[in-house]
Amino acid sequence: MTGSERPATPAGETPASGSLPHWSDGDDVPTITRGEGVRVSDDEGTQFLDFASQLYCVNAGHSEETIVEAMTEQARRIPYVSSSKHNDARTELAARLADVAPGDLSGVYFAVSGSEANEAAVQFARAEQDAPKVLTRWRSYHGATYGAAALTGDPETRATVERYAATSGSGKFLPPIPAAFDAESPEELTEKAADHLEFVIRNEGPDSVAALLMEPVGGTSGAFPAPPGYFERVRDLCDEYDVLLISDEVITGFGRCGDWFGIEAEGVQPDMITFAKGVTSAYAPLAGVLVRDSLGASLREEGIDVGQTFGGHPVACAAGVAAMDVYEDRLLDNVESVAPTLESELRALNAHEAVSEVRGRGFLWAVEFAEPETGDPYVDPWAGEGNETDDNPVAAVKEAAMDAGVLVGGGRPGFQLIVAPPLCADESDV
Ligand code: PLP
Repeated sequence: MTGSERPATPAGETPASGSLPHWSDGDDVPTITRGEGVRVSDDEGTQFLDFASQLYCVNAGHSEETIVEAMTEQARRIPYVSSSKHNDARTELAARLADVAPGDLSGVYFAVSGSEANEAAVQFARAEQDAPKVLTRWRSYHGATYGAAALTGDPETRATVERYAATSGSGKFLPPIPAAFDAESPEELTEKAADHLEFVIRNEGPDSVAALLMEPVGGTSGAFPAPPGYFERVRDLCDEYDVLLISDEVITGFGRCGDWFGIEAEGVQPDMITFAKGVTSAYAPLAGVLVRDSLGASLREEGIDVGQTFGGHPVACAAGVAAMDVYEDRLLDNVESVAPTLESELRALNAHEAVSEVRGRGFLWAVEFAEPETGDPYVDPWAGEGNETDDNPVAAVKEAAMDAGVLVGGGRPGFQLIVAPPLCADESDV
């Protein structure tokens, strides 16, 4: 079958799978059976350039031999050791993470998925602050499990959020996106968005707020980088109102936005970082939370235990150590040298009347579409939902890209494409 015979795919990027209740990208999406570097191929031998890194995970590229070898070696020696004992791969990965994490984030807790990492961070924050609420942004994605879904604020999961809100104790605020605040400059946008956040903290009652949980660059919600100074204002507000700052780096970590962690570019120190996806380049499921020294000590004293059986699985940790070697040796430099070309090629799409904005950082970009009649973005940030429309071009563009041999992602809300190649993509791939 050629790509052109495949039906249109829905805009949302959701995992294809045979079993209910998993969503699927459609009945006739390719069955991917092989991958190498930035390319994958299906069971009929059709090759695709994977510019979505399979849900923005496969940062080191497909079938990276050094990672496969490290996992094999670990599995041969001892595949699993429970968290009640030490394990060399786990200890080494924890030390490597603490080495590259900003500031004094040297405590490492391992989980299995990004959703669970975020839930663990929330439990840490609530225990430490003795306060129930965690504030997150509309147009954010923090996971699909019970608590993480309640923290999520993308319009497509609004119904889910509200179903869980009563138990989650979470509140929402708006990210600094131009369409939400009528600002004439990035500086004014920072000011208005930070003032709005302060209003929300005060309105919720600062003593009841344990933490803010934010992606440094919005991921599937549309690759939003913050305007200059926004995160500094956020950090100041956290200090002023005694609220912890958690940076959700499930997508933005491990070189995706250029640095080890996306928050580094903002020059502020978070109290916790949550990570997943790129830590093993998705060669095995692994996630975790990095916590500041003092917070780690206090949590240990308190004896808070949120451990899971497969958190910090040794085979996954071996994959993590090998993936970090690849990032360090080659790929952080590659992102630095290739990202400007990726950026300028994508920004050229801004000239198209169907495109309302191109934005992102490093190897994480979004192309947002405009309503053809008005040229306005499809999403009303204050309404918290996408406009009802049958003309959403994203499905057709994704299908056309697939016909041309390129896989790209779909954002949530679904009026945008997400372009996020493996970090080994070179100029010619771009
Ligand atoms: N946080 C962010 C920013 C994400 O993008 C995701 C998943 O895409 C998650 C958390 C949830 O991670 P997982 O799907 O591994 O549970």
